[in-house]
Amino acid sequence: MVTRLRIGLGYDRHRVAPGGPLRLGGVTIPWDHHLIGHSDADVLLHAVTDAILGAVGLADIGELFPDTEASNAGIDSAVILREARRRVAAIGYQPVNLDCVVLAQRPRLLPHRAALRRSLARLLGCRPEAVFVKAKTGEGVGAVGRGEAIDAHCVVLLEPADAPDA
Ligand code: MG
Repeated sequence: MVTRLRIGLGYDRHRVAPGGPLRLGGVTIPWDHHLIGHSDADVLLHAVTDAILGAVGLADIGELFPDTEASNAGIDSAVILREARRRVAAIGYQPVNLDCVVLAQRPRLLPHRAALRRSLARLLGCRPEAVFVKAKTGEGVGAVGRGEAIDAHCVVLLEPADAPDA
């Protein structure tokens, strides 16, 4: 039998700059630094967006919202993720669960895990139990370890919206 489940992987990195707060996973996290990019630079939402798009072989985030487009400057990444979710739903797929890793030397993200899970679940239309977020440091080495960048990885499983217990 051919499975109709689809798996997707997303990854992103954004640079850290002075001045807070941090926008991550659609959550505002108190910190004296923030991420920079053409959009609001929400590295976790970008990784999630690429994961769900990739699972069904749609465009990647850069094709959907080019950073050469002036109208995308400073755009809320929740808008980007919602559009990706809409496109995925339009071809009949919905998320089963996702698992994310955020690599940040600072700030400590564990206290924000529940808020991150709720935020991602709300944006994706699934239960918070279907979303997990792990936080790691850069072990003091490399761009993440020096506090110059924050990385995010996401793996997602999608199922057809007409699946039996959907
Ligand atoms: Mg990005």
